Amino acid sequence: MEGLLEGNHDVSLEQDEVKGRTVISKRSLQPGDIVLHCQPLVAVPNAENHQLCSRCFRQAAKPLRCSRCKMIFYCGSNCQKKDWTSFHKRECPLLAAVHSQIVPPTIRLLGRLAIAMVDRPSSREVVDHMMDHRGKWTEKQMQVYAQMSVFATQYLSPDEGLRDLFQHASHMIRIFCIFSCNNFNVSDQSMNHVGIGLYPEAALINHSCDCNSVATFSDGEAFIRSVKHIPPGQEITINYIELASSKENRNSILSSNFHFVCHCDLCQSGGDRDARLSQPSCNKCRRFLKREEGAYRCKVCAYSISSTRCDDVMDKCRNMSERGATDHVPSLRSALKEGEEVFGIYNEFVILLKNRLIKMSIEGSQFQEATLMSESLLEAYEYLYPSYWPLLGLQLFMHAKLLRLEENCDLKRVSEILRRAHSILMSSHGRCKLTLELDDLCRETEAELNHRR
Ligand SMILES: [Zn+2]
Ligand SMILES: [Zn+2]
Ligand SMILES: [Zn+2]
Ligand SMILES: [Zn+2]
Repeated sequence: MEGLLEGNHDVSLEQDEVKGRTVISKRSLQPGDIVLHCQPLVAVPNAENHQLCSRCFRQAAKPLRCSRCKMIFYCGSNCQKKDWTSFHKRECPLLAAVHSQIVPPTIRLLGRLAIAMVDRPSSREVVDHMMDHRGKWTEKQMQVYAQMSVFATQYLSPDEGLRDLFQHASHMIRIFCIFSCNNFNVSDQSMNHVGIGLYPEAALINHSCDCNSVATFSDGEAFIRSVKHIPPGQEITINYIELASSKENRNSILSSNFHFVCHCDLCQSGGDRDARLSQPSCNKCRRFLKREEGAYRCKVCAYSISSTRCDDVMDKCRNMSERGATDHVPSLRSALKEGEEVFGIYNEFVILLKNRLIKMSIEGSQFQEATLMSESLLEAYEYLYPSYWPLLGLQLFMHAKLLRLEENCDLKRVSEILRRAHSILMSSHGRCKLTLELDDLCRETEAELNHRR
């Protein structure tokens, strides 16, 4: 495993007494510098994004479908040919044999990993050295993996070579454990999850809620870029989980999925940031409320609210922010209003719900409403995220587009917002389709502004 980062000029792998394996910066890095560029060992699109190219994750206008298994797609013949030699030649008969039954991405990923391990001994070595946190999984999780391995064995059965790779159920269960604590969510340029993948070098980087780097993906490859100034000798860290979440919720996901609790500065202090994310606040002065005997009270104003009501409002926002929840806009609006009244605009579930409503408002051409919500979402993002965070850049970009739709919009402000979005997204994504689109809008806005003067 140590060989993985050998010869890298930017980072090195070191052993820390407390943390174990750490990736350390070898030079001074600025926001936007590429810390690590990493090919996937294996990666597959999510089931709901199955029309994405199985090799580069691009959405083609007319995707090519594999004519044999009819189960997977490509952006063009180039990707199809390359994928055929490296994976699909052996994968195709497996997919064809399930007769258009949906194969969960984890099973497909396991199939591809088996192919890599059988065809390329070096892959086997990489997998042998990956963390599986054996012994830390709960009984219930192990049962789920055992069930998955029954399905996976069936899936691999048409190919003797692949089937024989896992001679005992525990070998396969180990792979599912490896996936759970090492897999990356592959995202598109708008940071939507579109697939899963194993990126061995990137998987060496530890988590911090106060991370100094971020992972984005292009053509299925992972790019780790710095979002802060990183002096030589400092540890490189990325986020394994969403950062706009309370200390308690972050660590509950980290311990159940990754088997550790985080000791970063944000987790140790918590403080104001954590209170804003999770505590109810006074609807008059916005001070955080003190909990006394079943109710929250403001020390200054006469405001108080029962803790049952707080829990109800929080649950409502959380449930309604989830995919598949009601899409009845008036109900969502009223839940958001209650959420903001009780918790303010920085609460994690208020943020999730607002995100969902903004998308729905834009789809329904309710641009004015979307702009208002986007304004307060930005305020929360500015506070919660590092200044070069991709989600902040994307929201600024969206906000500028919304503002431009207004009659007599403030072009000077739009232009400032676009410039900030540009510097953030160039740092997190580099030059890509998204930043080119942003370039065009910057230029257009500048031209209009000059014309008005
Ligand atoms: Zn492709
Ligand atoms: Zn096929
Ligand atoms: Zn932390
Ligand atoms: Zn108050």
